[in-house]
Amino acid sequence: MDLGNQRASSNVQDRRGIGMVGGGLGIGGIAVAVIAYLLGFDPGTAIQVGQQASTVQERPAAKGAPADDMGQFVAKVLGSTEDVWTQVMRAHNRQYRQPKLVLYTGAVRSACGMGQAAMGPFYCPNDEKLYIDLAFYRDLKERFRAPGDFAQAYVIAHEVGHHVQNQLGVMEKLHSLQGRVSKQEFNRASVRVELQADCFAGVWGHHAGNAKLLDPGDVEEGLAAATAIGDDRLQKQQQGYVVPESFTHGSSAQRVSWFRRGLQSGRMEDCDTFSSSAL
Ligand SMILES: [Zn+2]
Repeated sequence: MDLGNQRASSNVQDRRGIGMVGGGLGIGGIAVAVIAYLLGFDPGTAIQVGQQASTVQERPAAKGAPADDMGQFVAKVLGSTEDVWTQVMRAHNRQYRQPKLVLYTGAVRSACGMGQAAMGPFYCPNDEKLYIDLAFYRDLKERFRAPGDFAQAYVIAHEVGHHVQNQLGVMEKLHSLQGRVSKQEFNRASVRVELQADCFAGVWGHHAGNAKLLDPGDVEEGLAAATAIGDDRLQKQQQGYVVPESFTHGSSAQRVSWFRRGLQSGRMEDCDTFSSSAL
């Protein structure tokens, strides 16, 4: 990516290295381990984990956009998503509310409960914040074999996609299904939500390309990342077989297809995974 001329967002809250007092894995550890390989997360899991939050104290975050390379990268990618979504939402007569992005190390308290690095990056609709432990980027490169700065940006753009969904009322709809429908039905709805977030990440990528932020090869990096984190690929790696009914994020082919769709058109109306009969 070429972020030289991109402004850095002022919405990054740097909590790296602050640490948690009185935290610890506790009962959340097992639930967290199960979803450790997933990009994005199921809000239900965080709520289970959240029970420990009350015992935890933390110090305030550093002020201002972080100055280190990685912090600057994140702040510029976030800044770019703000520019793009402000414009895209305005075209739909909506005002974009900018989310905050919290960088943390190890564990963090969110309004959705305790977040832990093993969960991967996540978005909490209750406080409208994205949470990222940058150690995930090492996993993306080494464990998922999806290197590159655009792959890293895609992760942020996917979580921002959940924020856009939150503003559109999609997250609330998913949440209302919890406990009212079967696990399988909930998973199917979750897949549609996740694929739409992938498509929204593509919408951002399209406009980032127009703003000359992309280098040759960036799109391929994004597609490789979408492939690497498909449910079928991850299940095959972890357990050696694939159980489509348990998918929560979609297969590699589906994730690539919806990301590509947003990337090509740049239009959020092309991301309607809910009325699409075939995903
Ligand atoms: Zn997600």
